[in-house]
Amino acid sequence: MELSEISLRNVKSISEKREKYFNKLGVFSLLDLLEFFPRSYENRMNVKKICELVPKTSVSVKCRVLSVSTRQIRRKLSVSDVVVSDSTGRMKIVFFNRKYDVDRLKTGNEYIFFGEVEYAYGSFSMKQPQIELPETQSSFTDTLTPIYPLTAGLTQNIVRTAVKNALIYAADSVYDNLPSNLRQKYTLCEKMYAFNNIHFPKDNEALEAAIRRIAFEELFYVALGLGLIKKRTKDEPSPIFHNFKTANELAETLPFELTNAQKRTVREICADFRDKKHVNRLVQGDVGSGKTVVAAMIMMICVRSGFQAALMAPTEILARQHYSELKKYFEPFGFKVELLVSSMSAKEKKTVYETLRNGEADVLIGTNAMIFEKAQFSRLGLCITDEQHRFGVKQRLGLSQKGENPHVIVMTATPIPRTLALILYGDMDISVIDEMPAGRLPVITRTAVGENREKVYGFVLGEVKKGHQAFVVCPLIEESEKMDLENAVKLREKLQNGILKDCRVGLLHGRMKGAEKDEIMLKFKNREIDVLVSTTVIEVGINIPNATVMVIEDANRFGLAALHQLRGRVGRGKLQAYCFLNISDMTSFKRLKIMEETNDGFKISEFDLKNRGPGEFFGTRQHGIANMKISGLSYDISLVKTARDAADELILSDPDLTLPENRAIKKTVEKMYTAI
Ligand code: ADP
Ligand code: MG
Repeated sequence: MELSEISLRNVKSISEKREKYFNKLGVFSLLDLLEFFPRSYENRMNVKKICELVPKTSVSVKCRVLSVSTRQIRRKLSVSDVVVSDSTGRMKIVFFNRKYDVDRLKTGNEYIFFGEVEYAYGSFSMKQPQIELPETQSSFTDTLTPIYPLTAGLTQNIVRTAVKNALIYAADSVYDNLPSNLRQKYTLCEKMYAFNNIHFPKDNEALEAAIRRIAFEELFYVALGLGLIKKRTKDEPSPIFHNFKTANELAETLPFELTNAQKRTVREICADFRDKKHVNRLVQGDVGSGKTVVAAMIMMICVRSGFQAALMAPTEILARQHYSELKKYFEPFGFKVELLVSSMSAKEKKTVYETLRNGEADVLIGTNAMIFEKAQFSRLGLCITDEQHRFGVKQRLGLSQKGENPHVIVMTATPIPRTLALILYGDMDISVIDEMPAGRLPVITRTAVGENREKVYGFVLGEVKKGHQAFVVCPLIEESEKMDLENAVKLREKLQNGILKDCRVGLLHGRMKGAEKDEIMLKFKNREIDVLVSTTVIEVGINIPNATVMVIEDANRFGLAALHQLRGRVGRGKLQAYCFLNISDMTSFKRLKIMEETNDGFKISEFDLKNRGPGEFFGTRQHGIANMKISGLSYDISLVKTARDAADELILSDPDLTLPENRAIKKTVEKMYTAI
């Protein structure tokens, strides 16, 4: 039997009740449990000096006790403050109800404390650490202890025990889906060894080997899958375009000159059309670099060559914005442009379907409604998806299956470091629009902490008085839409009744219906709203050139890529724009500093890659390739290229995976892609 078909209940220590808790974490089978990788490890041998501490990491510090004081707060709650120091600094350690331990600490003696480092008001601290007393020297185990993501009902110990039992249960039945020749060539350990050591590493070396093996495998299969798609689409005939000059006709109607980067991108795509190649291309261009006109020019060629073109956007607001912009571009040429979004009535949709099927419509703009719903094209020649990082491979395939191998262009403003693009967009060629339209001023960015947060709104008021507009964004809280909404509502009220009482403060959130959102956006665009408080629904694409301020509340909750996207909503006109990152404490100050230093999305993403590892980029929301389970753990970035090379080599030497030594690979790929 396959490990994925073996129930969790077979694992000793997993009762029916516990099984349900595991289910909540997405763990349903024995295989899921083996692949439920730790998010980090406690390393108790990792002894640091106070000056080397980093907030939110678990470390040991070896310190001398300077003073101890215990207060009885309530009958059942005592709090002890212990001040300690080493040669590099001092810190406070707080204990709750640990009087017994604390009483054994002797002022002037050295101890090792193990716990999570916190940082507040300019100094480090630790709460409830474990203490190594001199007389129990070395009671800390010197292994790495796994830390798992948890849910209510589960503790670290329950999960550890369950995983241990699962490893024993599966010991003889784990099947290695990388053949030994490949393992040898790339010095990868066996799968069972990897499972054992990723959960309970023997030592650092074993852990590294385990992570390397598992990361390689995940990257390799993604690269292989995408490589096979690329081969398939390249081999099949695709629509033939001609009439390339027509793109210039559109360019001539624009009130501005195209940048060199825009021209180059159009040329690169046309070169493929000329060679009658199937186009499958990623167009990367920072926010505001002008991707929409590039898309419009390519669509122009498609329609003039006798085909239909589709543009898919990730949100309804964006789809509607593209619709009105492209209609303006295309109507002078007599093209019929249609919109398809979920919130339209059945009757409206039916009319659109009809015009698509009978070929009357030339251009369709919409959300992913166009994949899932009954849209059928009579001669689809080109699919463009905007802000691709929001779509998965599944959608990428879904749309291109709507025609006879149509050309595919995806546009993204999320700058992906080159190394990672190799894997994430392994099936595509890449063009980069690396130049901004002339006359854009870089957005001035400042981080505001504590009381300064209030002052930011004084600045907003000043800008509104000048006739400008502002965005205020509240973050997603713990993925809870409800709290998210409450937060935005409260902030709007506070601002409207307080410092911004003379402004018109609007609210936009994810729970509003499409039409409602549009109404608000329209009001904002028409300057009937001065300050728009919103949840992250505005993240992508929205174009309001008169907006000069972007305030991001609790900016520390966002990744740098998301912050960069949000900041890109301002500075889109000729006016100087500002972005304020509001945070409540200093913990993330260092990370956010890069936002003040540069407006270059590629620099920011390289920085993110270096500091947080590739995992951040492999989060499903960024790229949509399901289940990169290794993503939380860091590994050597050069592995990405190694895995891609291995996949390319294999496709070259055995494109149909028919050789006996590749049987294991074939089986895995087939499973992966029927899932898509
Ligand atoms: P993005 O790449 O973020 O999707 P858009 O396509 O929305 O950017 O373009 C942003 C703004 O810049 C739009 O108002 C667009 O009309 C304008 N724009 C695009 N290309 C140029 C150019 N070459 N010169 C001046 N403005 C341009
Ligand atoms: Mg755009």
